[in-house]
Amino acid sequence: MKYISFFADGSKDKKALLGGKGANLAEMTRIGLPVPPGFTVTTKACLEYMENGIPNGLEKEIRSAVKKLEKQAGKKFGDTKNPLLVSVRSGAAASMPGMMDTVLNLGLNQETVKGLASLTSNTWFAYDAFRRFIMMFADIVFGVSRHDFEEILEKVKKKEKITQDTQVSVEGMQQVVKESIELFKKEVGKFPEDPFEQLMAAVEAVFESWNNPRAVTYRNIHKLPHTMGTAVNVQGMVFGNMGNDSGTGVVFTRNPTNGKKELYGEYLPNAQGEDVVSGSRTPLGINELQKRDPKIYKQLKQTCKMLEDHYKELMDIEFTVEKKKFYMLQCRVGKRTAEAAVRTAVDMVKEKRINKKEALLRVDPHHASFLLHGSFKKVSQEPLGKGLPASPGAASGTVLFSADEAAEIGKNKDVILVRNETTPDDIHGLVAAKGVLTARGGMTSHAAVVARGMGKPCVSGCSQLTIDMQKQTMKLGNKTIKKGEAISIDGTSGEIYSGNLEVQEPKLFQRFKTLLKWADDVRTLKIRTNADTPEDAQRARKFGAEGIGLCRTEHMFMGQDRLPWVQKMILADDHKDREQALKRIEKMQVHDFEGIFTAMNGLPVTIRLLDPPLHEFLPNYEVQLLKVRDLEKSKGKSYEKEKNMLHRIESLREANPMIGLRGVRLGILFPEIYEMQVRAIFTAACRVSKKRKKVLPEIMIPLVGTVEELHRCREMLEETAKKVLEKEKKKVNYLFGTMIELPRAALTADQIAEYAEFFSFGTNDMTQMVFGYSRDDVEGKFLSQYLSDGILKENPFEVLDRDGVGQLMEIAVQKGKSRRKDLKLGICGEHGGDPSSIEFCNKLGVNYVSCSPFRVPIARLAAAHAALGDKSGNASD
Ligand code: ADP
Ligand code: MG
Ligand code: MG
Repeated sequence: MKYISFFADGSKDKKALLGGKGANLAEMTRIGLPVPPGFTVTTKACLEYMENGIPNGLEKEIRSAVKKLEKQAGKKFGDTKNPLLVSVRSGAAASMPGMMDTVLNLGLNQETVKGLASLTSNTWFAYDAFRRFIMMFADIVFGVSRHDFEEILEKVKKKEKITQDTQVSVEGMQQVVKESIELFKKEVGKFPEDPFEQLMAAVEAVFESWNNPRAVTYRNIHKLPHTMGTAVNVQGMVFGNMGNDSGTGVVFTRNPTNGKKELYGEYLPNAQGEDVVSGSRTPLGINELQKRDPKIYKQLKQTCKMLEDHYKELMDIEFTVEKKKFYMLQCRVGKRTAEAAVRTAVDMVKEKRINKKEALLRVDPHHASFLLHGSFKKVSQEPLGKGLPASPGAASGTVLFSADEAAEIGKNKDVILVRNETTPDDIHGLVAAKGVLTARGGMTSHAAVVARGMGKPCVSGCSQLTIDMQKQTMKLGNKTIKKGEAISIDGTSGEIYSGNLEVQEPKLFQRFKTLLKWADDVRTLKIRTNADTPEDAQRARKFGAEGIGLCRTEHMFMGQDRLPWVQKMILADDHKDREQALKRIEKMQVHDFEGIFTAMNGLPVTIRLLDPPLHEFLPNYEVQLLKVRDLEKSKGKSYEKEKNMLHRIESLREANPMIGLRGVRLGILFPEIYEMQVRAIFTAACRVSKKRKKVLPEIMIPLVGTVEELHRCREMLEETAKKVLEKEKKKVNYLFGTMIELPRAALTADQIAEYAEFFSFGTNDMTQMVFGYSRDDVEGKFLSQYLSDGILKENPFEVLDRDGVGQLMEIAVQKGKSRRKDLKLGICGEHGGDPSSIEFCNKLGVNYVSCSPFRVPIARLAAAHAALGDKSGNASD
């Protein structure tokens, strides 16, 4: 046969041809499980159907397949004494909601229904089955709403003054069938009495459903090819609705929520097919079956074990019991939570079902990231509103509308910072808050990026949120919340609740730690972290970080105790004043670096010298202008001071600060700043190493575009470093290197490598520069449309753009290495924590990726996947 495969002839490896359902029905048949006999019309037939309609010869093949099925079942299609009834079930290679639903009891007509009645000695049952078939056939094959059919039954129930379907009299059921056929005739036309005609109509309807809008949309969203086609399974019926010794159930072989090794599922006695999921009757917990029918339960348990032994997976099964006889109707790999995925993978290694590599590939790194966030224990209330799920996790606390207050009150209370948007000025508030809620800004707004970096929940772009700064209130939904009242935000879903919901903290549970150890054994990429504080460094080490790949120093310039000195330094008129201000900042920075070196205890620490433009440390221009205008009349001392400030802000103002005076350019124009930072780094390094601890600083000069910038800057700074080391009489190993974030740096990487001992790819800026997108501006604007229109397949700020940015990286690696063989390579953009980007870096021969502390476990797992060459994604059904 060209288009048909019997269950007994297929296997689970033939998913492309038989669809997932068909392949697994075949596999179960092959290994001897009690599957009602049947056959699969293959996807090949479907594909040909879509080209030219019903393929030549298909009808003939189906006819002879039915003949064979009749023999296997010992029943005959259309027979008035012992009629064969079948189900017609769609099933593509990937499971796909939106495809045609299953038609049950096909083969019934006005004659065969009588045969079924006398055969089962149950007229009621036969007519109930017929009634259901007419309704399903009309609905599923011809698109007639079920509603009118259900009305017929309701009408009879009313007439008989009863409420349950099962109480309807035999005559009542026969009346329902009669009227259903009349309705069918009215809506569709002639009712096909010929079972074969029924079957062909159903098969064709399944083919058609491949291209129905719901299915097409589903494939678009999940990036599934439209060229797979669906198979059609035709299977002999068994009846779970033949009384209380019959029933139907759905079971997972292990608990899909937590992975515990126990049967998990439901059973509905005296029921058929969709009754379990339709919710019209409440099913029993599967343990009830053990009490009601221990023999069947035992058989179910044995079947589950057999399936797990065979598939070596957590399985999801559908079964039916007909008069105490057990049948398997479906099995597939079960969907599960991240926790269950980890637990089953590790347990199955212990059970010797799979090896460690297989276990690693079973846990999708994206999915595993759900394990690293706090969540609300129980939510019983409706959310007030919803924003973008910008940084996952759950937090609740007191609402505050200013960063200063959050910083103050956050010292001894849980607070949620609520703002229209945040800026670098709010950093101290963000640090102190448990979570952030903003009315504006996208997934990569300042609040979102900072919150993700800190691993704290953030809901951004909540457009229904209005904040009244005057009254110090916020309004969301129809609730007004005053400053000091509590809210709870869920950054995983974007939902916002009123009041304090209880949060449970994430932790690496034992089995996850085990899995990550296995990951460490296979991966070749090193995993570092982006950390600016000793606390972050410590946390990251707990999660397995092997160094700091990016320590940003601008945060060290923030905070209420520092900012005034930073401003003094910027505003200083002469060298002496500037030196004095820098001295103060230096002291604080030495302290910061000491903390970080101590926390990292000999692991490499890459420190990026100051990068942002100086105006970021000064007040907003417009605000300052207003202030000066207010003071104008007084002409007092403070007026002069503020006016000075205004002039300075004006002189530093840039139309396009992103590509203005920042990075190494700053180091060249204001050498005192970088010199101070390097002095601080080496002083701290000497102090820590005097305590017999190892230190390994790597000084990173940002935003280099020409070799001469790096050459000059490095020469100057190396001088400074040597001076400190001489003075302290210490030897410290260190490296000087640069960030590769400008296209020109990548293209001239061979020149740059002359003066750089390491490259770290700053892919955030690089993406901005390569696309010409200002990240802060495009996110909320055209980028979302580009993504929904498919102009861009992915947000390049989340998933590394291999074609453009990636190509530049390749050039940089190749050119850089041509000049310096042992050039150390890393990536420190946010892509460092993204599994697909990690895979790319692994291929590129990068030495390490660096990501935020909370992403470190994910990166370890993703690096293992990369090393194992995984392109498969996760198992489906
Ligand atoms: P879905 O893809 O929606 O799970 P299925 O093809 O599995 O659809 O059919 C749904 C339900 O119909 C099954 O769970 C089962 O209860 C019932 N069913 C399907 N085929 C048969 C059959 N041959 N005998 C009895 N019940 C069946
Ligand atoms: Mg269904
Ligand atoms: Mg099913």
